This record gives sequence, structure tokens and C-alpha cells, in this order.
Amino acid sequence: MSDMGSLDPQDWRAFRAFAHELLDAMLDRQQNADVGPVWRPVPEAVKKRLAEPPPQAPTPLKELRRELDACVLPYAVGNTHPRFWGWVHGSGTPGGALAEMVAATLNANCGGRDHGAIYLERAVVGWARDWFGLPGSANGLLVSGASIANLIGLAVARYRHGGERRVREDGPTGARLTVYASEHAHACIAKALETLGLGRAALRSVPVRADFAMDLAALAERIASDRTAGLRPIAVVATAGAVNTGAFDDIERIADLCARECLWLHVDGAFGALTRLAPELGELTRGVERADSLAFDFHKWLHVPYDAGCILVRDGELLPATFGGRPDYLANVGGLSGGEPWPADLGLELSRGNRALKVWWTIKEQGVRRLGEAIARNCAQAQRLAAALAAEPRIVVAAPVPLNIVCCRYVGEGLDAEALDALNAAIAVSLQERGVAVVSTTRIDERLCLRACITNHRTRDADLDLLVREIVAAGERLI
Ligand SMILES: *Cc1c(COP(=O)(O)O)cnc(C)c1O
Repeated sequence: MSDMGSLDPQDWRAFRAFAHELLDAMLDRQQNADVGPVWRPVPEAVKKRLAEPPPQAPTPLKELRRELDACVLPYAVGNTHPRFWGWVHGSGTPGGALAEMVAATLNANCGGRDHGAIYLERAVVGWARDWFGLPGSANGLLVSGASIANLIGLAVARYRHGGERRVREDGPTGARLTVYASEHAHACIAKALETLGLGRAALRSVPVRADFAMDLAALAERIASDRTAGLRPIAVVATAGAVNTGAFDDIERIADLCARECLWLHVDGAFGALTRLAPELGELTRGVERADSLAFDFHKWLHVPYDAGCILVRDGELLPATFGGRPDYLANVGGLSGGEPWPADLGLELSRGNRALKVWWTIKEQGVRRLGEAIARNCAQAQRLAAALAAEPRIVVAAPVPLNIVCCRYVGEGLDAEALDALNAAIAVSLQERGVAVVSTTRIDERLCLRACITNHRTRDADLDLLVREIVAAGERLI
């Protein structure tokens, strides 16, 4: 249907032809994901063009397409390319993109009500709950990513151990609440505590051992001394796959400690938790079934298109207790207003998109086994990369490689530590700017390193061989 007043196409035939052409262009791009530079800087002229004011009149589709081709498509992050290993990015799949098209077409508001997407979300949350061995009474929610999932997990911990209904009413009162996490915990944990009004100082940073896992003796001491000082410990965050090195905290032993100390166990398993899908990696997440809450991402190692994260809470009643309560205009009077419980009662968002469809589609299309195999393959590739780097006389592997992340440092002769930091940063930038590969950087023992995080189902071994050659060549050139 279409009429003159609506925003729908006036000429459906022309729109349909245009849409098919665009779909083919997107499929071409996905089929040729390895062609062209991994990344290229956005030229000043393009930035200027994108900063122009919006048009008052409609833009013809042909012209819109030209702008898309000129200003948008060439300047992607690069994480769909087989040689993208920066930060922790998923690679996406063509099927995931199709699911996004379907979801956008349905345009469901998934804050609640009785429609299909609500049941899809419940299905995928239930699958995840079973993967991690949480009980059937656990509940959960899809969110934009692990940052928000961690915030929600810690909000529930604050509710449960910080005064329940009183904390919703008055905010935290009385003794200062504290939360414990490894010094390699993700920065979003501190942000969450700031947002929850507990303050950054509520985060008690616990030292790590040589393998970058939390030092549990130090954790126990810190809790004891905080209690003595009159503070009120409420939760421990165990990291399952730390962002710097892929290190895993010992969840089982942290669960023992939390049981002894009556503390909430929150697991940040943003990418690492999904090693659970690879039978040979199952040991890493031992104890995760004892978590009170678990945050992880579908958009990282499961390659669901951005954005899709998940929070699971063991005691399903605690999510609506922390976030529930709806005003008159959202009351359930039956019919479409049913579908309890509404996701809006389990988290922060009311209007929210259909994240479930692309998650459901990806898992259905690929099957769990294949997704797990892709994760295991990335870990094997990281071992191979680490061995190849270690064999280079000018390269030092800077941290153990328990998972999919390799940190290394190019060490040229005659340079002091600061100059080497600058050299390694320059190597990363040079690889990026020449479009050869994307690695990011971090600091291990305070020294800047190149960091390759292989969450990429398109990476072939030859891509990693090329990375080693390119790091050596860039190091020799830039020194
Ligand atoms: C990526 C990451 C986060 C943050 O997740 P987003 O999806 O980027 O919000 C949190 N913790 C760890 C360990 C991560 O790797």
C-alpha cells in the first residue's frame, strides 16, 4: 500500500529494483570481505560532507546511493575483514545481516507486550542459561552489550545486598558498599559503580598473579581489611576472559569464597564465557554455573551483528524486584498488553529493538557446534601466532596466551623503554593506515604492546603469517 501522505515509496516498482540492487551490493561486499584495505582513514572532505545540514526536500534514491558509496561504505571499522584483530570485535555474518533486515521490517518495540519477539528473546535467554548451567528459575535480558549487562548485574547485587526496597527508594545509605574485581577487570565495572552511585572508590582492585588471574589470597585479605574498616563488601566480579590477555579468574574458587563471605558473585564473561560452547575449552568456565549473575556478549565471539549483549541472573525474581513496576499507561489489561514479564521490568530500557531475532537466527543458522568450533579455532590460531612471534629475534611475547589474545612487543636494539613504547604504537598505526591489518595496543607491566585479539571466523593461518612478517618489516623500517 502507499498513498501520497505516507513516508512509504510512491513508486514501489522502482524502490524494489533499487532495494534488490543494494542487497546485491551488500552481498558482494560480504562475499569479498578479504578484498581491499582492512581500514582506511576518513578523508577531511568526507568528514566535511557528512557534517552538512539535513535536506529539507527528499533526496532521490540514486543520489542517496551515490553518497552511501562515496561517504559511508569505504570507511568501515574493518572488523568484517579476516585481518582485523583490534580490541574485541565480532566479525558479523551475512545471515546476521539478513536477520537485521527482517527485524527492521517488523520494527517491533521489545519493551514488552504480547508478540513474537518477546518469545524469541525468552528462547535465546533460555538457551544461554542452559549453556552456562544456570537453573531454570534464572532470568535474563538482551542488552546493548556487556557494559550494560555488567551494570545491570551489579545493580541487582546492590539491590540484594544493599538494602533491597530501601536502596530503590533512598539510594545507598549507611556503610559504604564495596565491590571486588581484578586489576585487569574491564573499565566498564568502575563506570557501572559510578553510575550506581556507589562511586569509583567502591571498586576494590585486586592484584593479579603472573598468569594475570586474580590473586585470591589478596582478594580475601582485602575483603577482611575492608570489613574491619567498617565498609560493607557486597560483590566480587570474576572476569572470564580479561580484555588485555584473555586471562580467566578461577570462578570455582571465587564462588567458594563468595559462599563463605555471603557475597554476590558476578561474572564478566563478555567474550570468554562463550568458550563454554567449545567442549575442549569447557574447563575455563568451571564454576560459572554458580554465578549469581553473568554478563556476556553475542556480538563478540558469536558474531551476531552489533549490538547484542546479555545479562543472566540466577534468582529470576531479583530482576523485576530491582527494576520492575509499571505506570498506568503500561498496565497489562490483557490482549496485546499481556506477555508478562515485560523486558522493561527486567532492565533499564522501555523502547528497545529486536535484538533477539539476529541472535536466534545466528544460533539456528550456524548451530551451536559450529559456533563453538570457530571459537576453538581462534584459540588454536592464537597459539600458532604466539609461537611464530616468539621465533622472531626482535619480538617478545609479553603475556601468557590462555585464550585468543596475543600481546607482543617489538624490541629494537639501542632504544630505551619509552622509545620502544613509541615504536610499538607506530607499528600498530602503520599497519592500520596502510590497511594491511588491524591490531590494537595495550600495556602489560606498564609497557606498551601490540595486541592481537582473534575473535574472527574469517581469519586464515596465512593472514597471521602475514601479520608476523609485517610487524617485523614495520619495526625495521620505523626504528
Ligand atoms: C568488551 C568487554 C566488555 C564491554 O562489553 P561491550 O559489549 O563493549 O559493552 C566488558 N568486559 C569485557 C571483559 C570485555 O571484553
